[in-house]
Amino acid sequence: MDKLLDVENVSISFIQYTKGLNQRDLKVITDLTLDISEGEILAVLGSSGSGKSLLAHAIFGILPENARLNGKIKFKGKELSQADKEEIRGKGIVLVPQSVNFLDPLMKISDIAIGHCDSEEEKKEKKIKQREIFEHYNLGPEVDEMYPFQLSGGMARRVLVSTALLADPDLVVADEPTPGLDEKTVEETLNHFKHMKDDGIGVLLITHDIHAALEVADRIGIFYSGYVIEIALKEDFSGDGENLLHPYTKALYKALPANGFEVIKGHQPLHGEIVKGCPYYDRCDWRFDRCKEERPELMDIGLKKIRCFKYDGVTEDMIKDGAIEETAEANIEDAANEVVEKAAELVDESNIEESAEAVEGAEEAVSETEDAIEEEVAEAVEGAEEAVEGAEEAVEVPEEAVEEGTEEAVEESSEEAVEESSEEAVEESSEETVEESSEEAVEEGA
Ligand code: SF4
Repeated sequence: MDKLLDVENVSISFIQYTKGLNQRDLKVITDLTLDISEGEILAVLGSSGSGKSLLAHAIFGILPENARLNGKIKFKGKELSQADKEEIRGKGIVLVPQSVNFLDPLMKISDIAIGHCDSEEEKKEKKIKQREIFEHYNLGPEVDEMYPFQLSGGMARRVLVSTALLADPDLVVADEPTPGLDEKTVEETLNHFKHMKDDGIGVLLITHDIHAALEVADRIGIFYSGYVIEIALKEDFSGDGENLLHPYTKALYKALPANGFEVIKGHQPLHGEIVKGCPYYDRCDWRFDRCKEERPELMDIGLKKIRCFKYDGVTEDMIKDGAIEETAEANIEDAANEVVEKAAELVDESNIEESAEAVEGAEEAVSETEDAIEEEVAEAVEGAEEAVEGAEEAVEVPEEAVEEGTEEAVEESSEEAVEESSEEAVEESSEETVEESSEEAVEEGA
Protein backbone atom coordinates (compact mmCIF):
# COMPACT_ATOMS: atom_id res chain seq x y z
CA MET A 1 0.00 0.00 0.00
CA ASP A 2 1.36 3.38 -1.01
CA LYS A 3 1.56 6.18 1.51
CA LEU A 4 -1.00 8.91 0.96
CA LEU A 5 -0.52 11.33 3.83
CA ASP A 6 2.50 12.06 6.00
CA VAL A 7 2.18 14.48 8.87
CA GLU A 8 5.64 15.11 10.27
CA ASN A 9 6.24 16.95 13.55
CA VAL A 10 3.39 19.38 13.03
CA SER A 11 2.91 22.01 15.72
CA ILE A 12 0.12 24.58 15.73
CA SER A 13 0.02 27.60 17.98
CA PHE A 14 -1.98 30.79 18.19
CA ILE A 15 -0.81 34.32 18.84
CA GLN A 16 -2.97 35.73 21.60
CA TYR A 17 -3.04 39.13 23.21
CA THR A 18 -2.82 39.03 26.99
CA LYS A 19 -2.52 42.52 28.59
CA GLY A 20 -2.40 45.56 26.37
CA LEU A 21 -0.11 44.78 23.45
CA ASN A 22 1.55 41.83 25.19
CA GLN A 23 1.28 38.62 23.21
CA ARG A 24 1.68 34.96 23.98
CA ASP A 25 2.14 31.93 21.76
CA LEU A 26 -0.54 29.42 22.77
CA LYS A 27 0.55 25.92 21.74
CA VAL A 28 -2.34 23.61 20.93
CA ILE A 29 -0.71 20.83 18.90
CA THR A 30 2.90 19.77 19.43
CA ASP A 31 5.05 17.43 17.34
CA LEU A 32 2.15 15.61 15.73
CA THR A 33 3.35 12.75 13.55
CA LEU A 34 1.23 10.20 11.69
CA ASP A 35 0.77 8.62 8.28
CA ILE A 36 -2.01 6.98 6.26
CA SER A 37 -1.76 4.58 3.35
CA GLU A 38 -4.17 3.70 0.55
CA GLY A 39 -7.12 1.61 1.73
CA GLU A 40 -6.37 2.27 5.39
CA ILE A 41 -8.47 3.85 8.13
CA LEU A 42 -6.47 5.67 10.78
CA ALA A 43 -8.47 7.00 13.72
CA VAL A 44 -7.10 9.89 15.74
CA LEU A 45 -8.69 9.52 19.13
CA GLY A 46 -8.69 12.32 21.68
CA SER A 47 -10.96 14.08 24.12
CA SER A 48 -13.27 16.85 22.89
CA GLY A 49 -11.58 20.22 22.68
CA SER A 50 -8.10 18.71 22.64
CA GLY A 51 -7.35 20.42 19.31
CA LYS A 52 -7.49 17.38 17.05
CA SER A 53 -9.87 19.07 14.57
CA LEU A 54 -7.09 21.58 13.97
CA LEU A 55 -5.22 18.77 12.28
CA ALA A 56 -7.97 18.61 9.63
CA HIS A 57 -7.88 22.38 9.23
CA ALA A 58 -4.09 22.27 8.84
CA ILE A 59 -4.34 19.61 6.11
CA PHE A 60 -6.88 21.70 4.17
CA GLY A 61 -5.04 24.97 4.75
CA ILE A 62 -7.97 26.60 6.52
CA LEU A 63 -6.38 27.53 9.86
CA PRO A 64 -7.33 30.93 11.28
CA GLU A 65 -5.16 33.97 10.48
CA ASN A 66 -3.50 34.08 13.90
CA ALA A 67 -2.39 30.43 13.72
CA ARG A 68 1.24 29.39 13.26
CA LEU A 69 1.96 26.08 11.61
CA ASN A 70 5.33 24.32 11.85
CA GLY A 71 6.30 20.92 10.48
CA LYS A 72 5.54 19.14 7.21
CA ILE A 73 2.34 17.84 5.65
CA LYS A 74 3.00 15.63 2.63
CA PHE A 75 0.50 14.16 0.18
CA LYS A 76 1.75 11.27 -1.94
CA GLY A 77 5.32 12.15 -0.94
CA LYS A 78 5.12 15.85 -1.88
CA GLU A 79 5.24 18.52 0.79
CA LEU A 80 2.15 20.70 0.52
CA SER A 81 2.42 24.48 0.40
CA GLN A 82 -0.63 26.65 1.15
CA ALA A 83 -1.25 26.97 -2.61
CA ASP A 84 -1.06 23.17 -3.03
CA LYS A 85 -3.57 22.69 -0.24
CA GLU A 86 -6.01 25.10 -1.88
CA GLU A 87 -5.57 23.30 -5.18
CA ILE A 88 -5.97 19.81 -3.82
CA ARG A 89 -8.85 20.28 -1.35
CA GLY A 90 -12.19 19.02 -2.59
CA LYS A 91 -10.36 16.89 -5.19
CA GLY A 92 -7.54 14.59 -4.00
CA ILE A 93 -8.43 15.19 -0.34
CA VAL A 94 -11.99 15.83 0.82
CA LEU A 95 -13.59 16.67 4.13
CA VAL A 96 -16.61 15.01 5.69
CA PRO A 97 -17.57 17.71 8.19
CA GLN A 98 -19.14 17.32 11.62
CA SER A 99 -22.68 18.36 10.63
CA VAL A 100 -24.96 19.77 7.92
CA ASN A 101 -24.29 23.20 9.42
CA PHE A 102 -21.28 23.18 7.10
CA LEU A 103 -23.68 23.12 4.12
CA ASP A 104 -25.06 26.31 2.60
CA PRO A 105 -28.61 26.61 4.07
CA LEU A 106 -29.88 28.55 1.03
CA MET A 107 -28.83 26.03 -1.63
CA LYS A 108 -30.57 22.84 -2.75
CA ILE A 109 -28.78 19.59 -1.89
CA SER A 110 -28.10 18.65 -5.52
CA ASP A 111 -26.48 22.04 -6.24
CA ILE A 112 -24.31 21.79 -3.12
CA ALA A 113 -23.13 18.30 -4.12
CA ILE A 114 -22.34 19.20 -7.73
CA GLY A 115 -20.62 22.47 -6.88
CA HIS A 116 -19.20 24.92 -9.39
CA CYS A 117 -19.12 23.84 -13.06
CA ASP A 118 -17.45 25.68 -15.92
CA SER A 119 -19.92 24.46 -18.59
CA GLU A 120 -23.37 22.97 -19.02
CA GLU A 121 -21.76 19.76 -20.24
CA GLU A 122 -19.67 19.44 -17.11
CA LYS A 123 -22.81 20.08 -15.06
CA LYS A 124 -24.70 17.29 -16.87
CA GLU A 125 -21.83 14.82 -16.30
CA LYS A 126 -21.61 15.68 -12.63
CA LYS A 127 -25.38 15.41 -12.20
CA ILE A 128 -25.34 11.85 -13.56
CA LYS A 129 -22.51 10.89 -11.22
CA GLN A 130 -24.20 12.55 -8.24
CA ARG A 131 -27.39 10.58 -8.84
CA GLU A 132 -25.47 7.32 -9.06
CA ILE A 133 -23.69 7.91 -5.77
CA PHE A 134 -26.83 9.22 -4.05
CA GLU A 135 -28.71 6.09 -5.18
CA HIS A 136 -25.88 3.97 -3.76
CA TYR A 137 -26.50 5.65 -0.38
CA ASN A 138 -30.31 5.34 -0.61
CA LEU A 139 -30.93 8.98 -1.33
CA GLY A 140 -33.86 9.24 -3.78
CA PRO A 141 -34.37 11.98 -6.43
CA GLU A 142 -36.59 13.95 -3.98
CA VAL A 143 -33.51 14.68 -1.84
CA ASP A 144 -31.93 16.67 -4.70
CA GLU A 145 -34.61 19.34 -4.30
CA MET A 146 -34.40 19.60 -0.51
CA TYR A 147 -32.62 22.22 1.57
CA PRO A 148 -30.20 21.14 4.34
CA PHE A 149 -32.65 21.87 7.20
CA GLN A 150 -35.14 19.40 5.67
CA LEU A 151 -32.82 16.39 6.05
CA SER A 152 -33.08 13.87 8.90
CA GLY A 153 -29.89 12.99 10.83
CA GLY A 154 -29.24 9.84 8.80
CA MET A 155 -29.99 11.51 5.46
CA ALA A 156 -27.73 14.43 6.32
CA ARG A 157 -24.85 12.06 7.08
CA ARG A 158 -25.38 10.22 3.80
CA VAL A 159 -25.49 13.49 1.88
CA LEU A 160 -22.17 14.59 3.45
CA VAL A 161 -20.48 11.28 2.63
CA SER A 162 -21.91 11.12 -0.91
CA THR A 163 -20.88 14.71 -1.62
CA ALA A 164 -17.34 13.90 -0.49
CA LEU A 165 -17.16 10.86 -2.76
CA LEU A 166 -18.37 12.80 -5.76
CA ALA A 167 -14.89 14.28 -6.03
CA ASP A 168 -13.34 10.82 -6.47
CA PRO A 169 -10.85 11.44 -3.64
CA ASP A 170 -7.74 9.50 -2.62
CA LEU A 171 -8.07 10.59 0.97
CA VAL A 172 -11.13 11.41 3.09
CA VAL A 173 -10.77 13.36 6.32
CA ALA A 174 -13.81 12.79 8.53
CA ASP A 175 -13.98 15.24 11.41
CA GLU A 176 -16.14 13.97 14.32
CA PRO A 177 -18.72 12.33 12.02
CA THR A 178 -20.74 10.53 14.72
CA PRO A 179 -21.65 12.82 17.67
CA GLY A 180 -25.37 13.31 18.25
CA LEU A 181 -26.36 10.46 15.94
CA ASP A 182 -28.54 7.56 17.00
CA GLU A 183 -27.01 4.09 17.10
CA LYS A 184 -28.38 3.05 13.71
CA THR A 185 -27.08 6.16 11.95
CA VAL A 186 -23.66 5.78 13.61
CA GLU A 187 -23.44 2.22 12.32
CA GLU A 188 -24.54 3.33 8.86
CA THR A 189 -21.97 6.15 8.81
CA LEU A 190 -19.16 3.85 9.87
CA ASN A 191 -20.15 1.38 7.17
CA HIS A 192 -19.66 4.17 4.60
CA PHE A 193 -16.05 4.49 5.72
CA LYS A 194 -15.56 0.73 5.46
CA HIS A 195 -16.79 0.88 1.85
CA MET A 196 -14.39 3.72 1.10
CA LYS A 197 -11.54 1.64 2.51
CA ASP A 198 -12.60 -1.29 0.33
CA ASP A 199 -12.38 1.05 -2.65
CA GLY A 200 -8.76 1.85 -1.78
CA ILE A 201 -9.46 5.27 -0.29
CA GLY A 202 -7.47 6.32 2.78
CA VAL A 203 -9.58 7.62 5.67
CA LEU A 204 -8.45 9.84 8.52
CA LEU A 205 -11.15 9.54 11.15
CA ILE A 206 -10.90 12.27 13.79
CA THR A 207 -13.06 11.32 16.76
CA HIS A 208 -13.48 11.21 20.51
CA ASP A 209 -15.65 8.10 20.20
CA ILE A 210 -13.47 5.09 21.04
CA HIS A 211 -16.21 2.65 20.04
CA ALA A 212 -16.45 4.20 16.57
CA ALA A 213 -12.67 4.08 16.23
CA LEU A 214 -12.49 0.43 17.28
CA GLU A 215 -15.34 -0.44 14.94
CA VAL A 216 -13.66 0.66 11.72
CA ALA A 217 -10.02 1.70 12.16
CA ASP A 218 -6.95 -0.35 11.26
CA ARG A 219 -4.73 1.72 13.49
CA ILE A 220 -5.60 4.16 16.26
CA GLY A 221 -3.53 7.20 17.16
CA ILE A 222 -4.03 8.39 20.73
CA PHE A 223 -3.99 12.15 21.05
CA TYR A 224 -2.95 13.53 24.45
CA SER A 225 -2.25 17.12 25.36
CA GLY A 226 -1.74 18.18 21.75
CA TYR A 227 0.34 15.30 20.48
CA VAL A 228 0.11 11.65 19.50
CA ILE A 229 1.47 9.46 22.30
CA GLU A 230 0.86 6.09 20.69
CA ILE A 231 -0.32 4.59 17.43
CA ALA A 232 -1.65 1.16 18.24
CA LEU A 233 -3.17 -1.58 16.15
CA LYS A 234 -6.89 -2.14 16.45
CA GLU A 235 -6.32 -5.66 17.77
CA ASP A 236 -4.20 -4.30 20.65
CA PHE A 237 -7.44 -3.07 22.23
CA SER A 238 -8.39 -6.48 23.53
CA GLY A 239 -8.07 -8.67 26.65
CA ASP A 240 -6.67 -6.65 29.54
CA GLY A 241 -5.07 -4.20 27.14
CA GLU A 242 -1.72 -5.95 27.71
CA ASN A 243 -0.61 -5.25 24.12
CA LEU A 244 -1.18 -1.52 24.46
CA LEU A 245 2.05 0.28 25.26
CA HIS A 246 1.47 3.72 26.71
CA PRO A 247 0.11 3.91 30.29
CA TYR A 248 -2.50 6.47 29.18
CA THR A 249 -3.80 4.21 26.41
CA LYS A 250 -3.98 1.31 28.87
CA ALA A 251 -5.83 3.53 31.36
CA LEU A 252 -8.19 4.78 28.65
CA TYR A 253 -9.02 1.21 27.68
CA LYS A 254 -9.61 0.20 31.30
CA ALA A 255 -11.87 3.23 31.79
CA LEU A 256 -14.40 1.72 29.38
CA PRO A 257 -17.49 0.36 31.17
CA ALA A 258 -16.85 -3.10 29.69
CA ASN A 259 -13.29 -3.14 31.06
CA GLY A 260 -13.80 -2.18 34.68
CA PHE A 261 -14.66 1.54 34.50
CA GLU A 262 -11.41 2.47 36.26
CA VAL A 263 -11.12 6.22 36.50
CA ILE A 264 -7.78 7.83 35.64
CA LYS A 265 -6.61 10.26 38.31
CA GLY A 266 -5.58 13.81 37.34
CA HIS A 267 -6.25 15.69 34.11
CA GLN A 268 -4.59 16.50 30.80
CA PRO A 269 -2.47 19.64 30.77
CA LEU A 270 -4.58 22.43 29.31
CA HIS A 271 -3.64 24.49 26.25
CA GLY A 272 -0.82 26.85 27.18
CA GLU A 273 0.12 24.51 30.02
CA ILE A 274 2.39 22.40 27.82
CA VAL A 275 5.03 21.02 30.16
CA LYS A 276 8.76 20.61 29.59
CA GLY A 277 9.00 16.83 29.92
CA CYS A 278 6.44 14.11 29.27
CA PRO A 279 2.93 15.60 29.55
CA TYR A 280 1.71 12.42 31.21
CA TYR A 281 4.33 12.74 33.99
CA ASP A 282 1.93 13.86 36.74
CA ARG A 283 -0.40 10.93 36.15
CA CYS A 284 2.13 8.22 35.37
CA ASP A 285 2.88 5.39 37.80
CA TRP A 286 6.01 4.43 35.83
CA ARG A 287 7.64 7.85 35.72
CA PHE A 288 11.33 8.35 36.44
CA ASP A 289 13.52 11.46 36.75
CA ARG A 290 14.26 11.78 33.04
CA CYS A 291 10.54 12.04 32.19
CA LYS A 292 10.25 15.34 34.05
CA GLU A 293 12.97 17.05 32.03
CA GLU A 294 12.85 15.48 28.56
CA ARG A 295 10.03 14.95 26.10
CA PRO A 296 10.09 11.46 24.57
CA GLU A 297 10.23 11.16 20.77
CA LEU A 298 7.76 9.03 18.82
CA MET A 299 9.54 5.70 18.30
CA ASP A 300 8.69 3.02 15.76
CA ILE A 301 8.19 -0.46 17.12
CA GLY A 302 7.18 -2.50 14.11
CA LEU A 303 3.83 -1.17 12.95
CA LYS A 304 3.23 0.57 16.24
CA LYS A 305 4.52 3.93 17.39
CA ILE A 306 5.10 4.92 20.98
CA ARG A 307 6.27 7.99 22.85
CA CYS A 308 7.54 6.78 26.23
CA PHE A 309 11.04 6.33 27.68
CA LYS A 310 9.99 3.01 29.12
CA TYR A 311 10.32 1.51 25.64
CA ASP A 312 13.84 2.68 24.83
CA GLY A 313 15.60 -0.23 23.18
CA VAL A 314 12.46 -2.33 22.66
CA THR A 315 12.34 -3.92 19.19
CA GLU A 316 9.71 -5.53 17.03
CA ASP A 317 11.18 -8.97 17.76
CA MET A 318 10.72 -8.37 21.45
CA ILE A 319 7.06 -7.68 20.78
CA LYS A 320 6.78 -11.00 18.96
CA ASP A 321 8.61 -12.79 21.77
CA GLY A 322 6.41 -11.08 24.32
CA ALA A 323 9.56 -9.67 25.91
CA ILE A 324 8.38 -6.06 25.95
CA GLU A 325 7.46 -6.08 29.59
CA GLU A 326 10.81 -7.47 30.72
CA THR A 327 12.78 -4.90 28.75
CA ALA A 328 10.51 -2.11 29.80
CA GLU A 329 10.72 -3.11 33.44
CA ALA A 330 14.49 -3.34 33.11
CA ASN A 331 14.55 0.21 31.69
CA ILE A 332 12.63 1.47 34.67
CA GLU A 333 14.76 -0.51 37.09
CA ASP A 334 17.98 0.78 35.50
CA ALA A 335 16.77 4.33 35.72
CA ALA A 336 15.66 3.84 39.32
CA ASN A 337 19.02 2.27 40.25
CA GLU A 338 20.86 5.16 38.67
CA VAL A 339 18.86 7.59 40.75
CA VAL A 340 19.43 5.62 43.94
CA GLU A 341 23.19 5.36 43.26
CA LYS A 342 23.42 9.04 42.52
CA ALA A 343 21.51 9.88 45.66
CA ALA A 344 23.74 7.57 47.74
CA GLU A 345 26.85 9.25 46.32
CA LEU A 346 25.51 12.66 47.19
CA VAL A 347 24.61 11.54 50.70
CA ASP A 348 28.06 9.97 51.18
CA GLU A 349 29.92 13.03 49.99
CA SER A 350 28.03 15.39 52.23
CA ASN A 351 28.31 13.02 55.25
CA ILE A 352 32.04 12.52 54.89
CA GLU A 353 32.62 16.22 54.93
CA GLU A 354 30.30 16.79 57.85
CA SER A 355 31.71 13.85 59.81
CA ALA A 356 35.29 14.99 59.29
CA GLU A 357 34.44 18.43 60.59
CA ALA A 358 32.62 16.96 63.58
CA VAL A 359 35.55 14.68 64.49
CA GLU A 360 38.02 17.55 64.27
CA GLY A 361 35.81 19.70 66.50
CA ALA A 362 35.44 16.91 69.02
CA GLU A 363 39.20 16.30 69.18
CA GLU A 364 39.86 19.97 69.83
CA ALA A 365 37.23 20.01 72.54
CA VAL A 366 38.72 16.92 74.24
CA SER A 367 42.21 18.36 74.18
CA GLU A 368 41.01 21.65 75.65
CA THR A 369 39.12 19.76 78.35
CA GLU A 370 42.18 17.72 79.34
CA ASP A 371 44.28 20.88 79.71
CA ALA A 372 41.58 22.52 81.76
CA ILE A 373 41.28 19.51 84.07
CA GLU A 374 45.03 19.34 84.62
CA GLU A 375 45.20 23.01 85.48
CA GLU A 376 42.25 22.89 87.85
CA VAL A 377 43.53 19.77 89.66
CA ALA A 378 46.92 21.36 90.20
CA GLU A 379 45.22 24.43 91.65
CA ALA A 380 43.09 22.24 93.88
CA VAL A 381 46.09 20.33 95.26
CA GLU A 382 47.86 23.57 96.00
CA GLY A 383 44.78 24.85 97.81
CA ALA A 384 44.55 21.67 99.83
CA GLU A 385 48.15 21.88 100.96
CA GLU A 386 47.58 25.42 102.10
CA ALA A 387 44.52 24.31 104.01
CA VAL A 388 46.47 21.55 105.81
CA GLU A 389 49.13 23.98 106.81
CA GLY A 390 46.54 26.37 108.17
CA ALA A 391 44.85 23.62 110.15
CA GLU A 392 48.09 22.57 111.75
CA GLU A 393 48.73 26.07 112.87
CA ALA A 394 45.22 26.42 114.23
CA VAL A 395 45.57 23.38 116.43
CA GLU A 396 48.56 24.46 118.42
CA VAL A 397 48.20 23.21 121.98
CA PRO A 398 47.60 25.86 124.59
CA GLU A 399 50.33 25.87 127.21
CA GLU A 400 47.80 25.63 130.03
CA ALA A 401 46.53 22.30 128.88
CA VAL A 402 50.05 20.85 128.75
CA GLU A 403 50.64 21.98 132.22
CA GLU A 404 47.49 20.27 133.46
CA GLY A 405 48.83 16.97 132.21
CA THR A 406 46.44 16.58 129.44
CA GLU A 407 49.11 15.91 126.86
CA GLU A 408 47.31 12.88 125.50
CA ALA A 409 44.06 14.74 124.98
CA VAL A 410 45.88 17.50 123.31
CA GLU A 411 47.65 15.11 120.97
CA GLU A 412 44.45 13.33 119.98
CA SER A 413 42.64 16.55 119.46
CA SER A 414 45.42 17.92 117.29
CA GLU A 415 45.65 14.87 115.05
CA GLU A 416 41.89 14.64 114.46
CA ALA A 417 41.68 18.30 113.67
CA VAL A 418 44.49 18.11 111.18
CA GLU A 419 43.05 15.04 109.52
CA GLU A 420 39.50 16.39 109.17
CA SER A 421 40.52 19.79 107.93
CA SER A 422 42.86 18.52 105.28
CA GLU A 423 40.46 15.81 103.96
CA GLU A 424 37.55 18.19 103.66
CA ALA A 425 39.57 20.81 101.92
CA VAL A 426 41.02 18.39 99.36
CA GLU A 427 37.65 16.76 98.73
CA GLU A 428 35.77 20.00 98.23
CA SER A 429 38.33 21.57 96.02
CA SER A 430 38.84 18.51 93.74
CA GLU A 431 35.14 17.70 93.30
CA GLU A 432 34.21 21.21 92.30
CA THR A 433 37.02 21.48 89.84
CA VAL A 434 36.43 18.16 88.11
CA GLU A 435 32.69 18.78 87.91
CA GLU A 436 33.09 22.18 86.32
CA SER A 437 35.71 21.02 83.86
CA SER A 438 33.70 18.03 82.69
CA GLU A 439 30.57 20.05 82.10
CA GLU A 440 32.46 22.57 80.05
CA ALA A 441 34.13 19.86 78.01
CA VAL A 442 30.88 18.10 77.23
CA GLU A 443 29.29 21.34 76.17
CA GLU A 444 32.13 22.25 73.91
CA GLY A 445 32.40 18.77 72.32
CA ALA A 446 28.69 18.63 71.59
S1 SF4 B 1 7.83 8.88 29.37
FE1 SF4 B 1 7.89 8.55 31.56
S2 SF4 B 1 6.21 9.75 32.42
FE2 SF4 B 1 5.86 9.57 30.22
S3 SF4 B 1 4.54 7.83 30.04
FE3 SF4 B 1 6.61 7.07 29.77
S4 SF4 B 1 7.27 6.44 31.83
FE4 SF4 B 1 5.44 7.70 32.06
